[in-house]
Amino acid sequence: MELPAHVTDLLRALRAAGFVACPVGGCVRDSLLGRLPQDWDVGTSALPDQVKACAAGRWPVADTGLVHGTVTVVVDGAPVEVTTFRAEQGYSDHRRPDRVRFVQSLEEDLARRDFTINAMALTEQGLVDPFGGREDLAAGVVRCVGEPARRFSEDALRILRALRFAACLDFDIEPATLAAARAAAPTLARVSAERKFAELDKLLAGPGAGRVLAGQGDILARVVPAIGPCLGFELYSPRHKLDLWAHTARALALAPPVQAVRWALLLHDLAKPDCFVRDENGVGHAPGHAAQGAALAGTTLRGLKAPARLIRRVEALVRLHDTPLPQTLPGARRWLGRWGWPFLEQLLAVKRADLAAHADCEAIRRRLEEAGRFEVLARGALARGDCVTLDQLAVNGADLLAAGLCAPGPRLGRLLAAALDGVVEGRLPNEKKALLAWAARQKN
Ligand code: ATP
Ligand code: MG
Repeated sequence: MELPAHVTDLLRALRAAGFVACPVGGCVRDSLLGRLPQDWDVGTSALPDQVKACAAGRWPVADTGLVHGTVTVVVDGAPVEVTTFRAEQGYSDHRRPDRVRFVQSLEEDLARRDFTINAMALTEQGLVDPFGGREDLAAGVVRCVGEPARRFSEDALRILRALRFAACLDFDIEPATLAAARAAAPTLARVSAERKFAELDKLLAGPGAGRVLAGQGDILARVVPAIGPCLGFELYSPRHKLDLWAHTARALALAPPVQAVRWALLLHDLAKPDCFVRDENGVGHAPGHAAQGAALAGTTLRGLKAPARLIRRVEALVRLHDTPLPQTLPGARRWLGRWGWPFLEQLLAVKRADLAAHADCEAIRRRLEEAGRFEVLARGALARGDCVTLDQLAVNGADLLAAGLCAPGPRLGRLLAAALDGVVEGRLPNEKKALLAWAARQKN
């Protein structure tokens, strides 16, 4: 296995001082999978002060988590987290160890790690893999190190990490591990909102996210309570072949791994159980579920302390997920002017994934065609550089004032908006002379 030069340099320095030092955890897992690790973590028998002494005069060091034995050594500009081998004891809050104890043995350190695939190290003697991580990696299995119930009771975040690794690696969760995760799911209440968001965010981006949602919705409902009523919720509609939650999972699986798109699909129908009615023929409808869903999406994401930008984007995607798309060029231009293409591209992804997760029927095919038509219109307008916003208009307020066609005040804004309307609808050319002439003819 190829280690980057900066990691090799650091390992050499620690080993030269007589310590055991080796890449450990996620980076070993990723390199065995043939993926480039995001970051390299080094485990060592050296105590934090000894690590600092080894780095002194050569590389800057930051005290990242000194009490837990972690310092960050910046080797030639690349940060490497170096953590002293440790054992953990007493998890009275189901989240963090009460004490950590520094130890000399790598094996003891590997035993405290969450899953077998994360409990391997790359030593001078080769791979150290006491729990069969390599085999589980080959078989595509997420399995706890040690007794699953105990491991989840120590730290509830591991429940979400299990689901996250299953989604991101497209792995299965080993049955005993999954059963213990399910049993421990109520303790997820103790995990901070930020950590829940971070794990769920990674989970949603994974290629196996749809499968994890479909299978583990009950566990996820401990993180997003509004999921609960959706599980197994029958929709009584010829447009749906799946229950509400299975539909949601399927839609997510069909969507590109774009953050806002995946979050929007997770949340898009959560208000359906609340809005649900059946008509005189027994067919189910959920009037208002998009608007109510947008509010619920906002509440959910705020509760998870998601970034404000993401919240705004997801709320808008959920609010519009069911709104018909314009089918005329002026209509498409209006939407472009109002929302911008980056948003509309995401909205198209949401709509297409949502529609594709419905039953194959005439109404759904028509909606998919409408999405296609809108996309062609919008892309055409973009490619031609059609005027869709005031700042693309060939006249501005200063032009109208200079030509003496208008005094400063609200009328100026109305005149410009009316000119934009005319251009968007194709009644007026986007040319300065023509627009000034048109403005001169306007009475109010
Ligand atoms: P990635 O960095 O790709 O998200 P990772 O496996 O590197 O995945 P980190 O959170 O960086 O995850 O943790 C590094 C290693 O520390 C893990 O591989 C695992 O061995 C161990 N670890 C992390 N969190 C826990 C935990 N909650 N319980 C037990 N071990 C953990
Ligand atoms: Mg990592």
